[in-house]
Amino acid sequence: AVPPRTAPATGRCPARAPIVIVIVIVMHSGNPMFLEPYWTRHAAASAVVVSGWHRLSYRTTDGLFQSVELENHIRRLHKSVGNAVVDDKHLVFGAGSTQLINALVHALSISSSPPDDDGSAPASVVATVPYYPPYKDQTGMFDGRKYRWDGTTDTWANATTHHSSTTKNKTDIIEFVTSPNNPDALLHRPVLAGSAAIVDHAYYWPHFTHIPAPADENVMLFTMTKLSGHAGSRLGWALIRDEKVAKRAYEYVQSNTMGASRDTQLRMLGIIKVMLANLHGEDDIFAFGHDVMRSRWRRLNAVVSRSRRISLQKIPPQYCKYFKRIREPSPAYAWVKCEREEDEDCYEALLKANIVTRSGVGNGASSRYTRVSLLKSDDDFDVLMERVTDLVNAERYDA
Ligand code: PMP
Repeated sequence: AVPPRTAPATGRCPARAPIVIVIVIVMHSGNPMFLEPYWTRHAAASAVVVSGWHRLSYRTTDGLFQSVELENHIRRLHKSVGNAVVDDKHLVFGAGSTQLINALVHALSISSSPPDDDGSAPASVVATVPYYPPYKDQTGMFDGRKYRWDGTTDTWANATTHHSSTTKNKTDIIEFVTSPNNPDALLHRPVLAGSAAIVDHAYYWPHFTHIPAPADENVMLFTMTKLSGHAGSRLGWALIRDEKVAKRAYEYVQSNTMGASRDTQLRMLGIIKVMLANLHGEDDIFAFGHDVMRSRWRRLNAVVSRSRRISLQKIPPQYCKYFKRIREPSPAYAWVKCEREEDEDCYEALLKANIVTRSGVGNGASSRYTRVSLLKSDDDFDVLMERVTDLVNAERYDA
């Protein structure tokens, strides 16, 4: 038990130092709370009630870990949005796309080396700077014999490269590509022709980017987290052209977690139905999402454009096939660069302004960069704007 706090028996009140409370605004995480108002408006239509007796089984009545009905709705959504070619692809669900990152490395590294040849060199897993940190973290953590994290794509940019005293062919390389990229929001393609690419399209939806054409890579990753905002439900999926690779990824999820949660699959089916019913209608989730994110990007740019201390990535307006017009940029993250010589550590510079960000060092980039999430709630974003405005206004008083 904690003893009660009593004043010392001096008969006088003790002198106290003034208490200064500094509240930092935490903008490092990609928590997609900006979509909460959309689902508040659609509370009844998106609600799913599950009785206690329902869905006890590991598997569906067809003996599968994946709901065919949900698969069909995901395919319909991709077709309606026009952001991915799905007809010639297999679908594999995971507990968020996070689970599928290593599932796909496993599936591709095994299928690219001969089954009995355990002596073969491990596949090199690489990405381009600035990359999404879990690609490196997971590849290192699971530490399979068949693959290893092998740095960034610039090391492998020539057709055959000498590395670690072995000659490596590009077919032994698994390249992570994020498009639009996290952290800088640019659209990317694989840079190592001939490598097996895992193209992470977590943000390839019209609230975050223009859609120039449906994506059609051999292995693609998507997630509900950034599509509908249901990060906590943990549902991601891979679209995979090759049946054998898809089977290996499916088996990985089976051994790892016995499939994605079936409650989640049911709930996400309800969510996708609501999104489909409202596409191009009065409350289209992409129109709402784009409006919010575009307005945040405009407001942030308006302030940062007055600064000589920090700058943002440049993203031009582009034609979007979904909206059928040129749309203004609406990235999920600001990739902030600190320009002053003394601000070598941009994370620290923003922390001094009480803004918690994620240092670019984790993305393989320089500490001059740091990532600021624009995905959080309106309140969080408003506080961020106050802090950034103070930071920029303070430049006037600098020597
Ligand atoms: N890929 C990228 C590029 C991401 O930004 C994220 C989430 N920040 C994920 C994958 C993982 O998302 P989840 O596991 O929530 O599906």
